Amino acid sequence: MNVLEVKDLTTGYGKTTVVRGVSLSVGPGMVIGIIGPNGAGKTTLIRSILGYVRPWSGRVMYRGVDITGLPAHKISKLGIGYVPERGGILRSLTVWENVELALRTSEHGEDRLSEVTKIFRIIDERRNQLARTLSGGEQRMLSIATAILTAKDLMILDEPSAGLAPLMRRKLAEALRDIRERFGMSLVIAEQDPTLVLELADTVYVIEMGSIVRSGKPQEVVKVDVLREHYLGM
Ligand code: ATP
Repeated sequence: MNVLEVKDLTTGYGKTTVVRGVSLSVGPGMVIGIIGPNGAGKTTLIRSILGYVRPWSGRVMYRGVDITGLPAHKISKLGIGYVPERGGILRSLTVWENVELALRTSEHGEDRLSEVTKIFRIIDERRNQLARTLSGGEQRMLSIATAILTAKDLMILDEPSAGLAPLMRRKLAEALRDIRERFGMSLVIAEQDPTLVLELADTVYVIEMGSIVRSGKPQEVVKVDVLREHYLGM
């Protein structure tokens, strides 16, 4: 059974349609990439899956259960981890207080903590540092670490590599690979810059103006894009 199944999802704001009939599926332990330019609707799609934006039509199924239109707090309790583009941590708390908070709301947290601490060294090294004094990349790492502690088997990450320096990006790619291998976690990664997604994903969906215009294995999707650019100048 797929972990996540999105069927013909349409939504938007006011009278403006932003996501147009999007369908995608995420199998157990799979990494799915959603790539598309600025304003294509990636964040809106993610937020409508997670219950922050109400779907107008279509279906969202999590492990065979219909979660369409459920409020965000209920969806998060079911065990879908969310790493938003910004935030996702409590900046006025220390690194360790953020971790403790995640452990308190999670069934699997304690079992995963030692592995998560190995992957994300800042948990030990910066234990008592206030989260707001971490660099942007370190804050992102903390946000991902706490999401793994609370998630059951699926994490959705919105632009995790945005604004990261190359070294931090490398660390992020390694961390995401580890998360999948050690916890069998399925990942949905939305990115404007396709680098990370092309490296990690099993299937890539390309979204433009709210619609999926292509999907397939990373190499296939890239090939089409290169050809399009070369011959059609698009
Ligand atoms: P980016 O890569 O720049 O983050 P994105 O692909 O995530 O873009 P969205 O943030 O989903 O795209 O935005 C899609 C469209 O929806 C944009 O035109 C944006 O202005 C609009 N939009 C997003 N949030 C709202 C909102 N709360 N109210 C009204 N319009 C919104």
